[in-house]
Amino acid sequence: MNREYPVNNFYQIIGNNLRKKQNKTAIIDGDIKISNLDLKKHIDTVASYLVESGIKPGDKIAMIMANSYMFIVNLFAISKIGAVAVPVNNFLKHDEYAYILNDSEAKLLFASAKFASEIKGLTIATKIEKVIWVDGVPLENEKNIDYTKITDKFRDTTSFVDKDLNDLAVIIYTSGTTGKPKGAMLSYQNLLSIIYGAIEHYNIKEGQAKFICYLPMFHAFTLAVTVLLPIATNSGVIIVRSIATKKDFAQLLKLVLLHRCQYFVGVPDIFSAMARAKLPWYFHWFHNVKGWVSGASPLSEDVITRFSKTFKRGKLVQGYGLSECASGVSLNKPWANKFGSVGTPLPSFEIEAFSEDFRLEPRGEVGELCIKGDCVMLGYYNRPEETAEVITDGWFKTGDIGYVDQDGYVFIIDRKKDLIIHKGMNIYPREIEEFLYTHEKIQACAVIGIKDIEENETPVAYIEAKEGVEISEKEVKDYLKPLLAPFKQPRKIFFMEKLPRNATGKILKRELRLINNN
Ligand code: AMP
Repeated sequence: MNREYPVNNFYQIIGNNLRKKQNKTAIIDGDIKISNLDLKKHIDTVASYLVESGIKPGDKIAMIMANSYMFIVNLFAISKIGAVAVPVNNFLKHDEYAYILNDSEAKLLFASAKFASEIKGLTIATKIEKVIWVDGVPLENEKNIDYTKITDKFRDTTSFVDKDLNDLAVIIYTSGTTGKPKGAMLSYQNLLSIIYGAIEHYNIKEGQAKFICYLPMFHAFTLAVTVLLPIATNSGVIIVRSIATKKDFAQLLKLVLLHRCQYFVGVPDIFSAMARAKLPWYFHWFHNVKGWVSGASPLSEDVITRFSKTFKRGKLVQGYGLSECASGVSLNKPWANKFGSVGTPLPSFEIEAFSEDFRLEPRGEVGELCIKGDCVMLGYYNRPEETAEVITDGWFKTGDIGYVDQDGYVFIIDRKKDLIIHKGMNIYPREIEEFLYTHEKIQACAVIGIKDIEENETPVAYIEAKEGVEISEKEVKDYLKPLLAPFKQPRKIFFMEKLPRNATGKILKRELRLINNN
């Protein structure tokens, strides 16, 4: 352990806040306002139910939920009883959910009704014993539980299970180059190191980190930075359930103004849209934002330039993070920003470039970026071999290619891992390719990412059909539709008589990328 933390786990944060200010608003979710005291009561009630249902410390509880205050309550309730939260990407399809629930050995599922069609049947396909619907029960099944019925009366029948810093808190599913998602096991220390590291990095004082939480809470970055950090600083989380339309977007910025937010985090796509948005004149003069922080994928120079023309106050800066390191590991400070870089490591983390044979590269030399510190995950759940491949001597090998300059600023220039990042969401080509290979007419395939006009990477598939058979783009798209989440669907299907291969028969994606660029 490299540093000291004021708490050992999440539930202690709630206790600390309560001792300081009982009535301070902890969460605003639309018309619902929750004080520190109410938050504790909600958490205690849900924790009591979980223990009465037979949940033991270490049991896994999955959440396929939209953003809401219930997400936060459940996360803390799970922590209070020493169980493990598995927040699942809610854009997935039925089989993808079944895979994650089985892999994580989850016993219980918290679910939002809007995902019912994909959740239907999961109690048969997995070991889930009960589905607790947080906003109405949309399906008929004896394993359904109505959240409103278990939370309508305050109860506190269970005591707090004191956990160690190194105990498992959350499992976040992320894919690797092997295609199928793997569970990154994050300890309390991993997540606390990001929260308290960011507080120190930005010198955030108590009550001064109110965040608008509109990015999906199942993502490690959202969870650590826009949920846990504002609660840990007793500042308050303002939840925006969705930003699907332009109206929602204007509402989001109104909240930034109203709540005098000093920081705002987003993905490049959001900042690009904001640079184009027509905002009322007063917004520019009266907002308090010092730093607009972009992460998840590269932020292009064009977006930075356009954004800074529209938003004259506050600086748009980049940060860098990954699920295996509990999210944000490096951040630019608005007052010490280096253009093109993803900032300096949070206090007590080390980021360095390493050569192929794992030798430390001198500053300024390009290599694989590796991270050391309290943020490095415990490992991939039930996958010791894959864990050993990515962690050496405490260094996590990110698969990102870049360098660290003389001043310690990190620059990312490429990715070693075969990953497509679409609007901040990871798409692993192998996962799509594995489904394509199950099609009877497909001999070989390769999925690559191409950039659209907004600089977003989108997947496209190259296909070589079996000899003598005809296959159409529609046939391939229809085949994939029920198998993969919409954001993972290839936007275009290209057919080639023979895909380019090297001498050993490996498909050369680099050549496909060149074809696409020309
Ligand atoms: P995830 O595990 O979903 O958080 O994805 C982590 C990956 O996102 C990293 O390994 C990087 O490839 C990519 N990433 C995150 N932040 C940035 C950034 N600011 N610039 C470029 N790539 C990024």
